[in-house]
Amino acid sequence: MSEGHRIIPISPASFRRRAARLPEKDQQGASQVAPTEGIASFAESTDTPPLDQRGRPLRDLRISVIDQCNFRCGYCMPKEVFHKDYVFLSRDELLSFEEIVRLARVFVGLGVEKLRITGGEPLLRKGLEELIKELSALKTRANQPVEIALTTNGVLLAQKAKALRDAGLDRITVSLDALDPALFRQMSGIEDSAPATVLAGIDAAQAAGLKVKVNMVVQKGVNEGEILPMARLFRELGHTVRFIEFMDVGNSNDWSQDQVVASSAVIAQINAHFPVLPVGRATPNEVSERWRYNDRPVEIGVISSVSKPFCGHCSRARISSEGLLYTCLFASSGFDLRQAVRTETDDQILARIIHGIWTQREDRYSELRESLMAQKKNRPQTRAKIEMSYIGG
Ligand code: SAM
Ligand code: SF4
Ligand code: SF4
Repeated sequence: MSEGHRIIPISPASFRRRAARLPEKDQQGASQVAPTEGIASFAESTDTPPLDQRGRPLRDLRISVIDQCNFRCGYCMPKEVFHKDYVFLSRDELLSFEEIVRLARVFVGLGVEKLRITGGEPLLRKGLEELIKELSALKTRANQPVEIALTTNGVLLAQKAKALRDAGLDRITVSLDALDPALFRQMSGIEDSAPATVLAGIDAAQAAGLKVKVNMVVQKGVNEGEILPMARLFRELGHTVRFIEFMDVGNSNDWSQDQVVASSAVIAQINAHFPVLPVGRATPNEVSERWRYNDRPVEIGVISSVSKPFCGHCSRARISSEGLLYTCLFASSGFDLRQAVRTETDDQILARIIHGIWTQREDRYSELRESLMAQKKNRPQTRAKIEMSYIGG
């Protein structure tokens, strides 16, 4: 590989397909997310783990294994956009397990210590346990086992928890936005869904020996009333719930600032019933700030991407299920690692490509959100961004 090798950021297939179906004026917007310039050049060496332009290391890799989902959460995959004719990625477009493992090995060589499997709904990917088994054999640069986590909506968890654990999965995050059955159905967008299914999945995960956390996206005017019931239940069960501010990811969810419940309000509400004390972050690059109940060793967490951005220590890279690398959840374009992994036989070359991309990274979208919103009259949805269901949480 010559030093002049370049890798060009491109937009995902889903953008390109949607662009083709959009009216002409919107197609122009979509084409802007497929820049043909903007280049990551090679670093000289991969012996030293890369630091980005803001001095941040590469520590976490989130791997989306599928862009499809069995839910249609309004804040992520609203039915009007992700309808029955929506074209998801084909099997050929997805990275194979072999390709994922190879890329993961290269990332781990560059300093990644945690892998998170996500989607879409990752439990819909057939044979996922085989992938987890392969990934769990990886060792960090310090020769420690790589931590393997997975985020799921929990629908298929009761039947899969034990096999996932046996394959080497360490921890699981289960998304649950409401305990009230009617509200749960409304938020999942699926008529025959039920919180009891997710709760059974959580029980099965715990019984299988997985460390469990619960994610709840809080949307003003939708599920604020579920904050206390969720806190109450999971402090009894002993699982951490992480309350997530509704984020302006993607362009489908019709986000606006006035639908966000600030984490400070969530904590105040819980504290008034079940007093909590701040614990801070376990590590600077952790996304959630933690609090502990005064009367028991159970924690809650808040993820405050909107009210209190945490880009300063962001060490996360993401790979879409078709193999595009994104250095920010709010990116417009990614770097085509699928082509690289399918054409380059030498892992050193892949390492140099990724090293070069990370070294040039400048992302800090959440820190810039307010000023971007001011420019766009509080509607940053006018900027083209990848969808959460495409890249994973
Ligand atoms: N389907 C799996 C699930 O729901 O757990 C994994 C993928 S999902 C995209 C990952 C996480 O992103 C979930 O916890 C989900 O609640 C969260 N999420 C999706 N859209 C969001 C948004 N607009 N704001 C905040 N969190 C969001
Ligand atoms: Fe599916 Fe997860 Fe998105 Fe809900 S948040 S639609 S479960 S990918
Ligand atoms: Fe990281 Fe981008 Fe989120 Fe900031 S906005 S924390 S850079 S993913």
